[in-house]
Amino acid sequence: MRNAFGLMLASVVTAAVIAGVWFWTSSPRADVAAPQTVAARPAEPLPPAASAKPAAAREDLEVTASLSNKPAAAPAPTQPKSACANPDALGVSRVVEIDTKGGPGFGFEHFKQLDFLTDKEVVLTFDDGPWPGNTPSVLKTLADECTKAVFFPIGKHATYHPEILKQVAAAGHTVGAHTWSHANLNSKKMTEQEAKDELEKGFSAVKLALGAPPAPFFRFPQLQHNPAAMAYLGSRNVAIFSCDVDSFDFKAKNATQIIISVMTKLEKSGKGIILMHDFQKHTAEALPELLRRLKAGGYKVVQMKAKAPLQTLAEYDEGLVKDMKLPVASARPVNNVVQTVSE
Ligand SMILES: [Zn+2]
Repeated sequence: MRNAFGLMLASVVTAAVIAGVWFWTSSPRADVAAPQTVAARPAEPLPPAASAKPAAAREDLEVTASLSNKPAAAPAPTQPKSACANPDALGVSRVVEIDTKGGPGFGFEHFKQLDFLTDKEVVLTFDDGPWPGNTPSVLKTLADECTKAVFFPIGKHATYHPEILKQVAAAGHTVGAHTWSHANLNSKKMTEQEAKDELEKGFSAVKLALGAPPAPFFRFPQLQHNPAAMAYLGSRNVAIFSCDVDSFDFKAKNATQIIISVMTKLEKSGKGIILMHDFQKHTAEALPELLRRLKAGGYKVVQMKAKAPLQTLAEYDEGLVKDMKLPVASARPVNNVVQTVSE
């Protein structure tokens, strides 16, 4: 019974992928790539420093597709089965791979072209990390619910806490970027060169922290979309993320306010990309209950991945390494140099 259903599902998926490929290659908007539903791939190799952290167990993945009358040409690959310890976990219902060519925009608050989520589907996104305490707490909650999110770290924070950002990547979440210093790229004072530096240095900082290039996913600080910066990101083939549901968690006085804000907005929109901040303590506190409410409300998490990583620019990678090198006077450990002689 289960096998028969699996075969049916496999046929449907294959047909839908064929139909999808046909549609997008023959569509006049083929340059603006739509997300494709993909099967889960084997875990990517971790950067050496991240290998101390065990990768999170892969959860149950179920590829969804709309019905099609086209015959299936070949069997779809079998889905890897899970090792999620929580039978009531929110999980991941669908994984989509984003072709970022030309810089597609996501999130109906600003970009309405790519409507890829179906009713009750949500994407979890977290900005402004990595940050001690709060980001690890968010990671634990996501792991407990066997679900995945997209993180938009600030470049500076990535250089402060690279070990935390490595944990984010090691857990299988998607990591994009959110500028070097959280500057408003739409400010009148910001020159095009300064905006480019903020963008590129942010991506290079995430790469330096992870030991691997980030996804070409970007979110503008304060959702301030500067047209020239958007055109630049398009030329760099970086997808731009706005949101559908803004939690305004940074303004919330407690965890309850965040839960109410997200659930109320979701009831209206029915689906969407949810914007939160792993930098915020109240968000970390709200997340366990929020994920339980999502599950209870019949919401399903869609994981967004990039088709290919971003190629960072060598001049920014090198400039960052140079900036971070402090003059070293002596390599002796601190307790060898500084001794308490009286207290
Ligand atoms: Zn931010």
